[in-house]
Formats: sequence, structure tokens, C-alpha cells
Amino acid sequence: SSVTQYDYIVVGGGTSGLVVANRLSEQENINVLVIEAGGSVYNNDNVTDTLGYGKAFGTDIDWAYETTKQEYGGGISQTLRAGKALGGTSTINGMVYLRAQTAQIDAWETVGNKGWNWKNLFPYFRKGEQFQTPEKYSFLNGSGVTYDPAYHGFTGPLKVGWSSTQLNDGLAQEVNTTYQNFDVPVSYNKDPNGGDMVGYSLFPKTVDSELNIREDAARAYYYPYQNRTNLHVWLRTHANKITWKDGEDATADGVEVTLSNGTMAVVKATREVILAAGALKSPVLLELSGVGNPDILAKYGIDTKINLPTVGENLQDQMNNGLQYDSKASYSKSADYVAYPSASQLFPNSTAVGAKLLRKLPAYAAKVASANGNITKASDIQRFFKIQWDLIFKAGIPVAEILLEPFGNTYDTEYWGSVPFSRGNVHLSSADPTVAATIDPKYFMLDFDLHAQIQAARFIRELFKTEPFADMAGNETSPGLSVVAAGADDQGWSNFIKQNYRSNFHPISTAAMMPKEVGGVVDTSLKVYGTSNLRVVDASIIPFQVCGHLQSTVYAVAERAADIIKGKI
Ligand code: FAD
Repeated sequence: SSVTQYDYIVVGGGTSGLVVANRLSEQENINVLVIEAGGSVYNNDNVTDTLGYGKAFGTDIDWAYETTKQEYGGGISQTLRAGKALGGTSTINGMVYLRAQTAQIDAWETVGNKGWNWKNLFPYFRKGEQFQTPEKYSFLNGSGVTYDPAYHGFTGPLKVGWSSTQLNDGLAQEVNTTYQNFDVPVSYNKDPNGGDMVGYSLFPKTVDSELNIREDAARAYYYPYQNRTNLHVWLRTHANKITWKDGEDATADGVEVTLSNGTMAVVKATREVILAAGALKSPVLLELSGVGNPDILAKYGIDTKINLPTVGENLQDQMNNGLQYDSKASYSKSADYVAYPSASQLFPNSTAVGAKLLRKLPAYAAKVASANGNITKASDIQRFFKIQWDLIFKAGIPVAEILLEPFGNTYDTEYWGSVPFSRGNVHLSSADPTVAATIDPKYFMLDFDLHAQIQAARFIRELFKTEPFADMAGNETSPGLSVVAAGADDQGWSNFIKQNYRSNFHPISTAAMMPKEVGGVVDTSLKVYGTSNLRVVDASIIPFQVCGHLQSTVYAVAERAADIIKGKI
């Protein structure tokens, strides 16, 4: 078409970006352009295959961002996966659809984001969802899947449910009985997607139950709507920076891009520019556009348009480890069972652990602040840490996630502490937008994070020592008792964990939604402070880690963001 300007430009056609573009283009008189660096993966088997997790890693649809060598995390660097395709990271993720604990979303409001609480976000989880009830699919007979219809949406774009490659191995009851036999039992949770996640459960995924293919943001929010004449997508187009209107005001008026043929162009936005490039890219685009810490920008010859030094700070991720066991039976399906222990279920002496951690919070906050040159203030960080402490030790949120995955002759497990305290950052390392940014999550910077990771490993050893599972499993093959002895102390676990972890791929908070005076980058309407029409709508804005996986919350935030932009909220 001949349109050279659009009402809205969405930068990044990923998980959040396609939600916002879809909802804005429901308004027929509004033109929306999505700029996406990747291409279509509609027919990419590495994406659609419901058993294909990991197949896309290292291919051309994976950004494969590298971190710095991790000072506290074994001295090694990590590869942070992220989808480079229409649909973004939803095209390569594990498809797990699990939300958050009510108190965690309410904490967004506690920190100063009026209106951002569970009660207001819950309708948006449901708005986006097209829950496929399991009783419709005979392949789920005997799987043990349960759900509460009150927690789900049935008419949204995003298909959520179970596929034929999942969960029909009949193990649900054995796992449940094993958890009931724990010294501190972990009760069965009928449906963890209603805001109470603690317990053991069988969870749904973003999957098309009928067709047995991955459901991603493009399949849900773009392809069924691609005939809208006001919804435009430029694929293989790289956004370099935001352009500003002449004058003193910080008003975005377009985006400089490198087109698929290699030429540069500026595309104009008459209303707004909306960043949805992901938590490791949106803050860097802000910096490339002159929004950030003047000292950092000056190093690369970038003039400061808006002095907002916390851009790229507050980076929070989780660390993922695993244990493996031989199984006596052989499994042909890829089942997943999740346990979400609270602090009192994970720590044998949780009151003492909590008291000790509380005393450490001032030192933790000081360490985070000094690591980033006091760009975030110790007093603010300490307040956030106390909120996080309250979530763990008062509200009883899940403090770890334990995934059990029987497949073939193996019981695989993955585990992670849900809410690490460590805070890192991501910043540009050149004014050239094609140069990789510097990413430093500071894994294991604070010792509670290691301690939670160790306790989660011990929890798994208890699972395999408890009947009936003890009898169903053979030896622990990784790490094995010769590497980490039975009953090992923290020191005994530390090396294994720090040499064998990976990122859990849940980076958030690098353009945090918080009041400006405590280090926020966007306000409660997701507008970047100091600008009149530039927003961020992706995982960057999430202020605190959630204990579910990220995508459901990212989808819900984007749904709510669209209503905010439309002026409905
Ligand atoms: P994205 O979906 O990554 O979207 C960003 C988009 O912007 C991408 O399409 C990207 O190509 C594009 N882009 C970036 N820079 C530019 C640029 N300069 N110009 C143009 N376009 C650009 N969550 C779950 O809930 N369940 C899971 O099982 C799960 N597993 C995961 C497994 C992996 C390997 C990974 C990496 C993540 C996983 N997550 C999971 C997390 C979840 O998928 C992400 O948090 C979420 O998809 C992020 O959405 P987003 O909109 O913030 O970013």
C-alpha cells in the first residue's frame, strides 16, 4: 500500500507486540504497523512440533543473547534464548501456561502502581484465553487432568490446553501419593491458574489440542486477522532507534529501521510508538534513542534526550538446574507434573530461614546498589526486598518450582527458586544497533538465591526417596551420589549447581513499571517517563518476578495495555 505513516508503530512482533497490534487494529479507522526483525515461522517444524522444545535453539530464529561471564555464577557465561520471528519468544518457549500468585500481582500495586493488582489483571488473563476443556479429547482419558472453569476464558484468541503428546501415562496419581507421603505434604491443586499456585498440579500449555501443534502469539493474534487492511506487518525489518519530533518535548514521531533489503528508512507514527522488543531489547532501543543513563549514553556518543538512569537496571531472571533418574518403566509421552512448594514446604526450618534473611536485606540492598553505581538506591531496593520477603514468608507464595518430566527410561527434573533477589542489568555497548548489548543478570549474587536452589534439589531427592516413587525409579544419574553425596551440605551442592545451571529464560523488569522516584522507567499507563507518546508493553515492565511462567502474564499485561492505549482504562 502507499501508506507511509501509521497511527501506531509496534516495535517487535512477539508475544506482547502482536496482542497490542491486534487489539488496536480492532478500531477500523486506526492504522497499525508492526516491525519485526524475524520472519514467519508458520510452517517451521521446530516451532509447531509439540515435542520439539529446544529444536529451535541456535537456529536463525533464536537471538541467542550472550551474558557476561557471571562473577557469582561459576565464572561462566549463559546463552539467553529469545525468539526472532513473528510471534517472538512464544514460538520457541516451553509452552507452559501458568500464571502467578494473587499476592505477587498485588505487590505491583504495593510498590506504587495504582490499579495493577490481581483483581484487575485476572479478567485479562481470561480475555486472551481460549481454554480447550480436556473432556472433549479422548486422548486425555485417565490423564488425571483437572481444572476449574471459573479460572478460564473460552472465547479469546489464545488456545490453552493439553495435547495428545502430553499426560496420558497415568502417573498423576502416583506422583500425588508420593507428595502426600512427604514429611511436609504438598497437597493437590485442582487448578493452579486461579491465583493460588501452591501445591502439586497438572498444568496446561499453549497448544492446539485438536491439531497437536504449538499455539503462539502469531497463530493466536495475527494469522486469523491478517486480512485486516489496517494491520500491517513488516518482517525481517530491524528497528534501530526511535525518532523524535523537533523541539523540546520528547514526542516520538517514528522509528528508524533497516529494511530486509538492507536499506535504512524512517517510518512515521502519528500517535504513538510502542516498544515490544522483549526485556533484553526494549531497554537497549531506549538507550539507542537517547533515553537512559547520561554517563552510559555519553560513552557511545549518544545525546541524552531523557535522563532516565534506571533504564536497563533491575534485571531479574531465575536459574534452572536439573536432576535425572533412571525409570523402571518406559514412557512414550512427554508428561509434565509441577510442584510449587511454599517456604514452609521447602525449608525444614522456614521461620529461622526467614528471620536470617530479614536481617540480611539491608546488606543485600547495599550490594545491589553499589554494583550498579548507586543508580538504583539502596533504600528503594531494600523496600522492594522487604515486599519480596513478605510475599515469601507472610503471603506464602511458592518459593520454588519443581518440574517432573518422565520420558523414555528417564525421570527428568528441572527446578528453580521462583523469586531470586539478585538484580542485574542490560545496556548497549555501542551506538551501532547491530552490536550485541552487555547483559549481566548477576546470577547467584545474593546467597538466598543459591540456598533456594539447593533446597529445591533436596526436595527432588526427597521425592525419589518417597514411596511409591522411590520404588518406580532407579539410580540418580545426574548429578549422582558420587558428585553430590547423599545428605550433602550447602557447600556440597554449590559447585554442581553453579557449574551446571542455565538461565530459566524469564528476564524481566529492565524498563520497570514503578514510580519514577524509586527507579521506574514507565508509569502505570506504561508510558516512558518524560515522553508524551512512547510506551513499553513487554516483559521489561514487570516489576517483580512471578512464580508461574512468564508468558501468561505477558499476554495479560499486553491485553490490559491495549485497553489503556485505547483509553478504556
Ligand atoms: P518476545 O516474545 O521475545 O518479543 C520480542 C519481539 O521483538 C521478537 O519477535 C523479536 O524478534 C523482536 N525484536 C527484538 N528486537 C527487535 C528490533 N530491534 N527490531 C525489530 N524487532 C525486534 N514462558 C512461559 O510462560 N512458559 C514457558 O514454557 C516458557 N518457556 C520459555 C522457554 C524459552 C527457551 C524462553 C526463551 C522463554 C520461555 N518463556 C516461557 C518465557 C516467555 O516465552 C517470554 O517471557 C515471553 O514470550 C516474552 O514476551 P515479550 O513480548 O516480552 O518478548
